[in-house]
Amino acid sequence: MHALPSACIICERHQETVLCASCLHSLSIESLINYECCYQCGITLQTEEVHEQHCTQCKNSRPYFDLTYCLDRYEGVLQNAIHQLKYQKRLAYAYGLASAWNSILSKQLRSICATHLLPVPLSTQKLSTRGFNQSWEIARRINCNSSIKKLPTALKRHHHEFQQAGGNLSVRRLSIRDVFYVDHNYIELLQNKSVIVFDDVMTSGATLNEIARVLKDNGVSRVTNWVLLRTKRASNV
Ligand SMILES: [Zn+2]
Ligand SMILES: [Zn+2]
Repeated sequence: MHALPSACIICERHQETVLCASCLHSLSIESLINYECCYQCGITLQTEEVHEQHCTQCKNSRPYFDLTYCLDRYEGVLQNAIHQLKYQKRLAYAYGLASAWNSILSKQLRSICATHLLPVPLSTQKLSTRGFNQSWEIARRINCNSSIKKLPTALKRHHHEFQQAGGNLSVRRLSIRDVFYVDHNYIELLQNKSVIVFDDVMTSGATLNEIARVLKDNGVSRVTNWVLLRTKRASNV
């Protein structure tokens, strides 16, 4: 494992902080918080959707989650940092990514009403290959209201491989059923609670939708997604 990076996670110029002032500035301008996004799934809205703050896809097929906040686009400047973290296993990038979140989003999310924060889990097998859960490594370092308790192990994942890419949305939804479950030790604790689910990347939304379904089946009343990077609207839905 690497120690703290001695370079900016975006421009990779050598310096002491994990994000240089100029990269942080451009990220804060590009951030999705400055754009009109669907309150439910976080996708950027088309002109005709703006007045309702809701995208057509969410209106036609309501997701189980209630709200989504995303820091930036997947195609934006943080993509390399997330790849370094996930695929090169450079854990130090989690500090930089959390720092970007804290600088740009933490203040805005301070008033959010939730009691618990749950990272999207990896299966035990995947966890042992990668060595860590990237969503948790970022989530554990983000600043949030001290009344929000972070629970890294409440959500669990079976080791079912499912095809993330390809197929239409209904096929993806079908294949992801029964992948996630709530650890029985936490079911009572989460009754009627408003929870945050943290994910590093949101693509079709099928994973987060399935997690929200499972949480609500287990008595959770409200689910808000906090997502680092959001991919573009899919063209096949
Ligand atoms: Zn930089
Ligand atoms: Zn939406």
